[in-house]
Amino acid sequence: MTLTQIGTADVHNITSGQVIIDISTASKELLENSLDAGATQVTITFKNHGIDSIEVSDNGTGIDEEDFDSLCMKHYTSKLRTFEDVANLRTLGFRGEALSSLCAVATVDITTSTKTMQPRAYKLEYDQRGNLKSKKTASRSCGTTVLISDIFRNLPVRKTDLIKNGRREFQKAVTLLQSYALIKVGLRLVVQHVDSRGRKTIMLATSGSKQLRSNVLSVFGANGMAGLEPIDFQLNISARFRLKACDMSLSVRGFLSNCSFGKGRSATDRQFWYVNGRPVKLQQFSKAITDVYKTFNHLQCPVILLNLELDPQFIDVNVTPDKRTIFLHNEAVIIEALKERVAEIFSGQDISIPKSQLT
Ligand code: ADP
Ligand code: MG
Repeated sequence: MTLTQIGTADVHNITSGQVIIDISTASKELLENSLDAGATQVTITFKNHGIDSIEVSDNGTGIDEEDFDSLCMKHYTSKLRTFEDVANLRTLGFRGEALSSLCAVATVDITTSTKTMQPRAYKLEYDQRGNLKSKKTASRSCGTTVLISDIFRNLPVRKTDLIKNGRREFQKAVTLLQSYALIKVGLRLVVQHVDSRGRKTIMLATSGSKQLRSNVLSVFGANGMAGLEPIDFQLNISARFRLKACDMSLSVRGFLSNCSFGKGRSATDRQFWYVNGRPVKLQQFSKAITDVYKTFNHLQCPVILLNLELDPQFIDVNVTPDKRTIFLHNEAVIIEALKERVAEIFSGQDISIPKSQLT
């Protein structure tokens, strides 16, 4: 057998398809970049369910001219310098892979302006390998607009799937963006769709309020807010970490269904988890809370919107390319403590569903 090493350009194409899996990951990576750039206003426009283009426009810091050449190169990031920095991350991005991967699977145009450039801006075009292809002056207020078009042009199976299931894929993207709209207080986020005839529909809009409650109202409406109780407590856990005894302290904040106001029999779609403000998948946590909830109200499922705040050294976010899977130190112990606390909260509530239906 003769082993050959895969060429750098081919490796780039192979790994990029894992970072940008679908239009959900494409749009959420761009939103994360806007948030990391300190944006308070972000508008995301999907044309033809994202098949034609996805545009993300923000009022963040903008990009310095000295970074234009390396911006879309693999592993170029402004967010960390060494592996050790991963343990203290506060930004949503850190691997420097999103823009370079987007270049590999789509056409990428960026228009940006910083405070010092104002009122000048630059429109930048990048090629498939992330090299800067053209740079023109433009005009724009401080911030960045990234336009992704013709996504998956070199991945025919994925492209065909996207065209076939455009509506479903788009809905999936809106649901993922909802998870950011809910948790990011002080952010005015607009997600809109423009169809092939140019008709615009607003899918999601938050007002920029500092209150989590107001984000929930904007995203779910007054009906969706009904039965949600604010949650705010602390869990203190004794643990062992790096062979030493240590105390882990977690704050748990957000909203949880009152035990007589769940969201239907099996709906688990309104269950949102965050760790230090990062939307993540915590299926074991969802299952645990739902199990406790069902001992009080077996007819319904709870709506969950909970952020766990804890020291970043107890978290590993570098698990999957989409950064949605997370390892938590002492996960099983945290789940047990959380279940106990939530059961206490539910037992203090009035169950207004007729008792006959509950047993
Ligand atoms: P990462 O977010 O992991 O650093 P990306 O490929 O997503 O990697 O982005 C590369 C770099 O480009 C970022 O570190 C940041 O410095 C810059 N950047 C990307 N998008 C924006 C934006 N909207 N505003 C300002 N800077 C941006
Ligand atoms: Mg990023």
